[in-house]
Amino acid sequence: MRTDAFALRHLGPRETDLNHMLNTIGVASLDQLIFETIPADIRLKKELELDTPMTEFEYLSHIQELGKKNKVFKSYIGLGYHPAVIPAVIQRNIFENPGWYTAYTPYQAEIAQGRLEAILNYQTTIIELTGMEIANASLLDEGTAAAEAMALLFDVRSRDQKKNNVDKFYVSEEILPQTLSVLQTRATPKGIELVVGNHETFDFSSDFFGAMLQYPGKYGQVNDYAGFIAKAHTNEIKVAVAADLLSLAKLTPPGEMGADVVVGTSQRFGIPMGYGGPHAAYFATKEEHKRSMPGRIIGVTIDANGNRALRMALGTREQHIKREKATSNICTAQVLLAVMAGMYAVYHGPKGLKYIANKVHASAVTLAEALNQLGVYQTNTAFFDTLLVKADASKVKAVAEKNEVNFFYVDGETISISLNETTSLADLNQIVSIFAEALGKSNVTVSELANESAIPADLVRTSSFLQHEVFNNHHSESQLMRYIKKLERKDLSLNHSMISLGSCTMKLNAAAEMLPLSMANWNSIHPFAPVEQAEGYQIMLKKLEQQLNVVTGFAGTTLQPNSGAQGEYAGLMTIRAYHLSRGDHHRNVCLIPSSAHGTNPASAAMAGMEIIVTKTTPEGNIDVEDLRTRAIEYKDRLSCLMVTYPSTHGVFESSIIEITNLIHENGGLVYMDGANMNAQVGLTNPATIGADVCHLNLHKTFAIPHGGGGPGVGPICVNEKLVPFLPTNPIIPTGGNQAISAISAAPYGSALVCLISYGYISMLGSEGLTNATKYAILNANYMKARLEDHYPVLYSGEMGRAAHEMILDCRAFKQQGVEVTDIAKRLMDYGFHAPTVSFPVAGTLMIEPTESEDVAELDRFCDAMIAIRKEIAAVTADNHNTVLHNAPHTQAMLTADVWNFPYTREQAAFPLEYIAENKFWPSVRRVDDAYGDRNLVCSCAPIEAYM
Ligand SMILES: *Cc1c(COP(=O)(O)O)cnc(C)c1O
Repeated sequence: MRTDAFALRHLGPRETDLNHMLNTIGVASLDQLIFETIPADIRLKKELELDTPMTEFEYLSHIQELGKKNKVFKSYIGLGYHPAVIPAVIQRNIFENPGWYTAYTPYQAEIAQGRLEAILNYQTTIIELTGMEIANASLLDEGTAAAEAMALLFDVRSRDQKKNNVDKFYVSEEILPQTLSVLQTRATPKGIELVVGNHETFDFSSDFFGAMLQYPGKYGQVNDYAGFIAKAHTNEIKVAVAADLLSLAKLTPPGEMGADVVVGTSQRFGIPMGYGGPHAAYFATKEEHKRSMPGRIIGVTIDANGNRALRMALGTREQHIKREKATSNICTAQVLLAVMAGMYAVYHGPKGLKYIANKVHASAVTLAEALNQLGVYQTNTAFFDTLLVKADASKVKAVAEKNEVNFFYVDGETISISLNETTSLADLNQIVSIFAEALGKSNVTVSELANESAIPADLVRTSSFLQHEVFNNHHSESQLMRYIKKLERKDLSLNHSMISLGSCTMKLNAAAEMLPLSMANWNSIHPFAPVEQAEGYQIMLKKLEQQLNVVTGFAGTTLQPNSGAQGEYAGLMTIRAYHLSRGDHHRNVCLIPSSAHGTNPASAAMAGMEIIVTKTTPEGNIDVEDLRTRAIEYKDRLSCLMVTYPSTHGVFESSIIEITNLIHENGGLVYMDGANMNAQVGLTNPATIGADVCHLNLHKTFAIPHGGGGPGVGPICVNEKLVPFLPTNPIIPTGGNQAISAISAAPYGSALVCLISYGYISMLGSEGLTNATKYAILNANYMKARLEDHYPVLYSGEMGRAAHEMILDCRAFKQQGVEVTDIAKRLMDYGFHAPTVSFPVAGTLMIEPTESEDVAELDRFCDAMIAIRKEIAAVTADNHNTVLHNAPHTQAMLTADVWNFPYTREQAAFPLEYIAENKFWPSVRRVDDAYGDRNLVCSCAPIEAYM
């Protein structure tokens, strides 16, 4: 047997552990366990048709070779994506560091203070650069952020009597083309009418609830929007501005012009273009809209000792918790990229950012002058970094491509040239000589950057920003390296211990899967580069689509959605398009079982559907009779069912085929939420259970790390019926022949991290993938066997088996005054991150170990849970001064001279023997959520607070 197979690295249990595990469970073989877990009628009859798996070494050579088919041209395309310098200290210590990229979303604040602080820095950067009052912890991309801005303005309009019935939204023709496409997708099902035009001729008197402007415009024109915004406000029209973040170091920020919402991308802050993503979009608004904000907000609060601590703010921090009343479905966002962008601001500080912005601007001015000398004119009356040049595009293009340079060709005689942080004098001279050669002019050489400005005086930023010490004390590499390390040490990630989050599949993110992200041939490609320059990407992405088709049994895949929830939205929009194409305009009812994840109803609401919630049986399954009643009741208007499989309760419901048939018989389609795909791969698939479309969370099942709350990739896979409707992109067409407009800004979403899933599948192959599923089920059932005598396990399959996760019922402990949160916090003292708390059932813990954990780690976790169970038993109703209620225990508590607790220090912090060897100290005591919500602070305190 070969010992270099990747499967041996990815899977936790060793072959020699199998007997012990199977004995503990009480089954004779792994196949017997799988037989008892997955209903026979949905089992696949044959192996997945995938290539022979590669070893890690083979894969890395392969990806290096394939990368050579991507041509890294100098990119001056712009349109929201620019070459940027990733500071090496950030690349090495964050981007390539599992301490950062394997962390989970910071719900357990006490062991997440590091990334919470990093995101607070990001929010502060956004607030101060945009001149707004409040910002969130990132969104998926600029296009989506713009759509969220429109949705927010639409939502708040209803509180305004006069605008109650108004549904027109104005979009400046300066908007980025991909943003317009994403807005169009979002507007249509909501009944919002988009009107595109020139902002100078806008008729303020007519019925609009909001407007969207681009600053600078798509080809670089800088406009003063203060007058527009003021007039809009007198007509009760709210205004969102999509702004280039780097330009705001130099230009008057939209907040100072009165904007209500400011959105954009932070890609230029040290994030590679990556053929479209991932990058963190930002969203900033006024305090008054904080409860309508999409995404997550990090805020300041206090811990049990009254010390400063951070956590996710506001009970409504994520809109989807409001289910069908939600105005946004954003769950996974772009935390890792927001952390990096925030750190870029910390490293450069206000002076550094200004220097970079000035240099970019000076490069643009210099180029404009040099081209002028050639007799080539540009038409922007004011600009930051982009020139709109009049010249014969085909002639210029021929010479440019010969020189490995890309501009954006607007039309036959118009060329847009966007300069960036990497642009050197040599680059400027190259651009000039390209124009000289193409147009037959004699060359001009520039030897230094110009001093003039192309920004009108009243648009030059005068306000200061980023005065807080964090942005002014980390400008040497040692300082920043240690700051990053200081934050990293506060966070529990997969490089410390297992993170058994049910439904979230925190499996190994193998180094070999991650390494290619740092290769220039993969991370330096502009998403709108001509496709023939991105052949490596085209091959890899097509191949990944095929691999996912094989895994799901479907006919087509789009990689565009940037999260699972966006996949849901994309899937529902294709279903909508399908019904419309058949003249079924009335089919808009979406059935959703009550146990569904909150993003399901939130996405259905975004797709304009009417949501009917169906019942769950006491055993946790879909109530088939209730579903039948509803399907028949709504059969003339039925659009679809959304179903999670195996269910959010971690069970393979045996009635699934009956359920999907029932929906089809009544004219609907079936959407499968693929969050639990880790229990299916190689054993069954969505096509076999009768679904028409599913999304996959590549950041769960297919090894993309969670990054502390993103990035994610949520492709949808569809059957023949839906292939024609897969989404397109206005610049690089994708999707089917009746494609819906864009779901994401970039044609292939977050193409760079798709490499991770491609690597995962290519290195595991059919047998490895199938074993991963079997071992995930094995690990879950092993834990169930070890824990079920101590905690009631809610819901099992018909033969008593869990799927890949299980729910421990902690509700009975309430009588003793022990809440499920106390258990979650106490686990920190044992060195573990809590499982999923109170989803899908309040008062429970949902554990999903994944296939990557070995028996020793599973045992440590089970030992901790069993020890905690004994601690619970010792709690009496009148004594809440216990290890559970005071958890987690910090190092400061343990080493304080005074110890007043009625248990020992050892019981507090070292309750089991294994802990001492690798103790993880929570950096704060239990955080007070309510205090922070009453006193909302979502940025670093102003400098005065420190003086
Ligand atoms: C994670 C999850 C989602 C949402 O995925 P995101 O990538 O966070 O948007 C949807 N449904 C279920 C059941 C999930 O577990």
